[in-house]
Amino acid sequence: MRIIMLGPPGAGKGTQSSKLARRLQIPQLSTGEMLRTAVEEKTPIGQSIDAVMKSGGLVSDEVMIECVRERLGRDDAARGFILDGFPRTLFQARALDDLLEARGTKIDAVIELRVDVSQLLSRVEGRAKESLANGGQVRADDNPRAFERRLVEYQKSTAPVSAYYAGRMQMASVDGMQAVETVTNDIMAALGFQ
Ligand code: ADP
Repeated sequence: MRIIMLGPPGAGKGTQSSKLARRLQIPQLSTGEMLRTAVEEKTPIGQSIDAVMKSGGLVSDEVMIECVRERLGRDDAARGFILDGFPRTLFQARALDDLLEARGTKIDAVIELRVDVSQLLSRVEGRAKESLANGGQVRADDNPRAFERRLVEYQKSTAPVSAYYAGRMQMASVDGMQAVETVTNDIMAALGFQ
């Protein structure tokens, strides 16, 4: 199964994608994770995107599409995947359609997580605190200023992606304000597994 997870920053895409990946036995392809790894490893791409990521801006479509094209080509993605964080622009959505068409496949389901905007910043701040308490690192973009920019980018560039899919296929909208496990169960049901 080939699934796309959509939703604003802090909606729980990463949390839910990882749970679904385990339940469905398909990989979670998180572009945010891929980029953070590139930044940590100081690869040429990592160095070129470090500043824009820290500020909460979007990495260029060109870099993203190449990144996803390469990742989709690996063996473990052949049976299916959960795309978490991609596509984030209409251009990326169209490029993904082309990439999949060239492989003779297509997206099976798009899940959108709905969370009140007023809850998003506190969720992200909660994640930062939790991470610190567990001796982990805080994401460079989990601060109010970068978050504000992420939200603006979401509303400007990513919200139209929902409309793009809504016009093409059945898109499930799931209430992301419920308990984590309930959200996962609702997604599974929307995918036809329960
Ligand atoms: P969020 O919780 O904000 O959705 P992600 O981990 O998905 O966080 O992404 C973190 C950052 O990585 C984004 O703010 C952006 O800078 C970059 N990024 C990830 N995916 C994309 C993409 N598809 N297009 C452009 N930038 C991306």
